[in-house]
Amino acid sequence: MKTATYEFKAETKKLLDIVIHSLYTERDVFIRELISNAADALEKFRHHSLTAEAGFDSHLPLEITVDLDEKEHSLTITDTGIGMTQSELEANLGTIAHSGSNTFLLELAEAAKKDVNLIGQFGVGFYAAFMAASKVRVQSRSWDGSEGHEWESDGSGSFTIKEEPGLRRGTKIIVDLKEDAHDYAVKWKVESIIKQYSAFVSFPIKLAGETVNTVQAIWTRNKSEITENDYTEFYKFVGNAIDEPLYRLHFSADAPLAINALLFVPRENFEVMGFGRVDPGVNLYCQRILIDQHSKNILPEWLRFLKGVVDSEDLPLNISRQSLQDNSLVAKLRKVITKRLLKHLDEEAAKDSEAYLGFWKTFGIYLKEGVTSDYEFQKELGRLVRFESSKSEAGKPIALADYVLRMRPDQEQIYYINGPSRAAIEAGPYTEMFRKNDIEILYTMEPIDDFVLSHLGEFDGKKLVSADRADLAIPKGSEQEGEAAADGGGKDSILDKDAKEGLIAWLKTALSGKVADVVESKRLVDSPAMIVNPDGYMTSTMERVLSASRMEKGLVHEGSKKNLEINLASPLIVQLSQLIKTDESFAKEVSEQIFDNAMIQAGLLVDTLGMVERNYRILSRAVRE
Ligand code: ADP
Ligand code: MG
Repeated sequence: MKTATYEFKAETKKLLDIVIHSLYTERDVFIRELISNAADALEKFRHHSLTAEAGFDSHLPLEITVDLDEKEHSLTITDTGIGMTQSELEANLGTIAHSGSNTFLLELAEAAKKDVNLIGQFGVGFYAAFMAASKVRVQSRSWDGSEGHEWESDGSGSFTIKEEPGLRRGTKIIVDLKEDAHDYAVKWKVESIIKQYSAFVSFPIKLAGETVNTVQAIWTRNKSEITENDYTEFYKFVGNAIDEPLYRLHFSADAPLAINALLFVPRENFEVMGFGRVDPGVNLYCQRILIDQHSKNILPEWLRFLKGVVDSEDLPLNISRQSLQDNSLVAKLRKVITKRLLKHLDEEAAKDSEAYLGFWKTFGIYLKEGVTSDYEFQKELGRLVRFESSKSEAGKPIALADYVLRMRPDQEQIYYINGPSRAAIEAGPYTEMFRKNDIEILYTMEPIDDFVLSHLGEFDGKKLVSADRADLAIPKGSEQEGEAAADGGGKDSILDKDAKEGLIAWLKTALSGKVADVVESKRLVDSPAMIVNPDGYMTSTMERVLSASRMEKGLVHEGSKKNLEINLASPLIVQLSQLIKTDESFAKEVSEQIFDNAMIQAGLLVDTLGMVERNYRILSRAVRE
């Protein structure tokens, strides 16, 4: 009989190397990985037999059997699942499903040292067998009835596949245990591992003739019968987690749709740990039968960080995975569950705002993604976003509702400004007027924040407005000062009307081609000038983000022209109006420098080299005088 030998793909070799050499602790999880693969294969078979024909060996009970041989030092896991054909054995057990890039592997090696459970999280579970195995054999026969095959490897560099006649449907994995792993053939040890990690598998797991797990769907049980510990253990099971969840939502509804959902928010955000985009973590069931694992359909994409299950009896059992996507019932379920979850988060925030800030720091980025990609839940999401503000403590963002509570009675809009840090924002020109008039302003410190707020548009009927808008209208004077200070942010200028007009006209010419307009500022207090956006929709930060992404693609980005607002009470501007008469060419250099400075304060790009040269020319003149 022919035996074919195959080399593992390069990235698989690296992964095996990591598995075999860097992961000594928590080896127990290899049993969990093999059992979870067996359960997946059984779920696939069950689903298949509901949607298509039953296939080969359809009479076999759906179950997992674990056999131990203490004398031969082996552990065998058998399932009556969907099985694998020869080519599936080659493809599934020869490569890593996950894009096996080098950085991924490096990150994995690092992360795995800290937490071996990450291996399961990222779909490389089968290879965990080599933590304990000197040799692994996989005998499998597909549900299509084609001839069975045996895959074999010692994990070092290659594997073989040969025909294996006489197999039943499903897969048998025979693990020959390494010398230091012989105790994985001891019954009490294996039994306790299965109880710890695989208690919620929805098929019987039989060990020495006894069923070790109690097959039950915790999410359909009455809340009052479920202990905290049951929930935590279930979370660990569905979420491949080792810790406790941050939040939990268990809810049932009968009308308009029958829903049982048990959702968890984990404690870590895996996407920032270098693993790229994570798969959705919620599984869709119908009457306790899994119909869509890691479902992309039951929740919006931006909730992919959640773990758990949704079960609805209203879904047709034989629905195919493809048709879930445009099924209107699934769309309704998604809407109901998403709203319920967002409401739950809002309630958690009300209960314990400190804890909620922890959630926001870790997962806020997903909610922001929700605001910018999904119009359906804007209202709910608006209640959940958090930003720092001129009246918040540093590092303690506030809710938009907090802002609204503190709004002045004469204030109609919610203001925000973006900048790289709290200090930078407060040193910049945009907050001067707000400080002077005691009006709160939100500080948006991530570039995406301006897109978020512009998508939200309003909160509680109040418009969200960026403070770098040209047409900004804010109530003047502090409440105490009342009408007395109501004439603007700026101080009075010593320039007369003609001098002002002359200066502005001159600046328009000097900066022509760079600015859309030059206008007298009504809001600057100390800074000589600032950039504002005549296009009310686009903020400077949004423009910077867009132009950076164009440049990345090799495209030129002609930024839209801005307005330069000048503070006619600023001594520098007053002196500039004198300088024009005595040394016009130097005055032009100064005005260009003022413009560049304002652009930098707006976070916009300037011609840095040209600016530095000009700056030196101005400095050499300053030291000469
Ligand atoms: P994952 O389970 O995340 O896909 P694994 O490394 O655990 O990754 O398994 C790789 C693939 O091998 C699975 O996706 C599946 O196609 C196949 N496989 C593993 N074990 C079995 C089994 N017992 N029955 C059928 N297919 C299996
Ligand atoms: Mg697996």
